[in-house]
Amino acid sequence: MQRYVEQLCGDLLAAAQRRRERPRPLADEYFVTEEERQRAELIRHFSDVERYTSGESNRSMYDTLGFEPEAFPPAERLTDHQLETLVRDLLDLWAAYRTLADAPQGVSARLLYPQLLKRMHDDYFDPGDGGYLHLEFCEYEPARCPWPEGLCSCRIDLGNFSGSGE
Ligand SMILES: [Zn+2]
Repeated sequence: MQRYVEQLCGDLLAAAQRRRERPRPLADEYFVTEEERQRAELIRHFSDVERYTSGESNRSMYDTLGFEPEAFPPAERLTDHQLETLVRDLLDLWAAYRTLADAPQGVSARLLYPQLLKRMHDDYFDPGDGGYLHLEFCEYEPARCPWPEGLCSCRIDLGNFSGSGE
């Protein structure tokens, strides 16, 4: 398994590097004046909107990143160290796509890893070069919170919260 994990991590890092080094729209360096830059941004915005409404965005993150869900071994079969390495390199690939995981600090790789894999099945809209995408895992419903008690803000200070600011 160790050898497989190393290969997978190598593939993740290579994909992140390809994404970071992909050719940028010429516009970014070419347009000199602020007016030209804004126009280029507007065009890009509308092509993003078109991409979105045309349904081209109905792809999972697996499709976009170019990895099969089956490529990722289940957490039960991995050591803590293998999980930490995989999570680190997977999040690096997410970051190359300007996609950030909003998970509470202190969540172990063993808990985070299955959540990341699950999330990658959802429809994904590639943010391109326009801003960052934050993916949340908790919808502030404590009953459905994927994180252990005490780590996520959905279960902290709820009592103090209602009533404050009145
Ligand atoms: Zn929560």
